[in-house]
Amino acid sequence: MIPLLDLKAQHSDIGPEVEAAALRVLRSGRHVLGPEVEAFERDLASYCGVGTAIGVNSGTSALHLSLLGLGVGPGDEVVTVAFTFVATVAAIMYTGARPVLVDVDDTLTMDPRLLEAAITPRTKAIILVHLHGQTADMGAIMSVADRHGIPVIEDACQAHGAEEHGRRAGSMGRLGCFSFYPGKNLGAAGEGGAVTTDDEKLARRIFLLRDWGAEHKYDHRMLAYNYRMEAMQGAILRVKLAHLERWTEARRAIAAGYREALATLPDVEPTPEREGTRHVYHVFAVRSPHRDALQDALTRQGVQTGIHYPVPAHLQPGYASLGYAPGDFPVSERAAAEVLSLPIYPEMTADQRRTVADAVRSALQLAQT
Ligand SMILES: *Cc1c(COP(=O)(O)O)cnc(C)c1O
Repeated sequence: MIPLLDLKAQHSDIGPEVEAAALRVLRSGRHVLGPEVEAFERDLASYCGVGTAIGVNSGTSALHLSLLGLGVGPGDEVVTVAFTFVATVAAIMYTGARPVLVDVDDTLTMDPRLLEAAITPRTKAIILVHLHGQTADMGAIMSVADRHGIPVIEDACQAHGAEEHGRRAGSMGRLGCFSFYPGKNLGAAGEGGAVTTDDEKLARRIFLLRDWGAEHKYDHRMLAYNYRMEAMQGAILRVKLAHLERWTEARRAIAAGYREALATLPDVEPTPEREGTRHVYHVFAVRSPHRDALQDALTRQGVQTGIHYPVPAHLQPGYASLGYAPGDFPVSERAAAEVLSLPIYPEMTADQRRTVADAVRSALQLAQT
């Protein structure tokens, strides 16, 4: 059986370091925020190439606080994509603002040609999603956003270390949002997230919003939240961040091997890499008109796969109040029917990668007969 991802393999690689950090926190008596979280925030800011990182308790909280930091609220609109994990859209709704969705292009990130038409006088922010680990088309999108004076939030929850022309995800918009859910490229031993920014004033607001809005104890100047990062997560994430570049290179090598092996096969197409991007392959997605048959055949051959995502956000029953209908975002809808995620994780061996590629080849031969 080849799993979609293997967190136990990661722990056998770096277990002693992680366990030492966890023990240190348990013995410290300091379990929420504190020096362990501050040290991680400094390392993450420097890794992303920004002035400040703010550790929080999830990627969803990072998105929510970024919007609140920008003053987004009822009556406002925020533009984002239909093809994303629902958290991106939910965070907008938490503020009382209305999500305005646009379609993606064949890289599965925001189609910059559709952005301008989605902007209205109520548009208060744009959230881009660096889906599967590939940056959105920052050049084209930032030029539209800047022309309208609208701040951009990067949803980099799948894109730790991704780059566009050498600039890291989380450093290109006004704010960047990260998730450290265990299966992400940088994963906690539980929940975690972070906001990154170069804007000092925004950072100060978000530090307050994260922890009850009190500049001095029991002096609450704003409605705020308990979105604090735990010390255990900060300590473990700091250990893992030091390995992230090595893990990313391993993911990219697996992706390159898949691309080579799949290049000659009909009816299976990896998501294209945009020129100038450093894709960090949180997900290795292929598209196939025979997606469901391909997935069943791979399961039978002991290869676990996933679908990111089978239903775009605008067609999720819980989001019907947004008023969208089938046909509104045709590229997203076709992608939802065709994408399949193959196993990828840094500890995956070249043998495992070849086994998966061979299984895809024989599954497609079956699908065609
Ligand atoms: C994981 C993810 C989130 C949410 O992060 P959590 O830490 O699970 O709250 C948001 N957006 C995208 C694109 C994600 O992949």
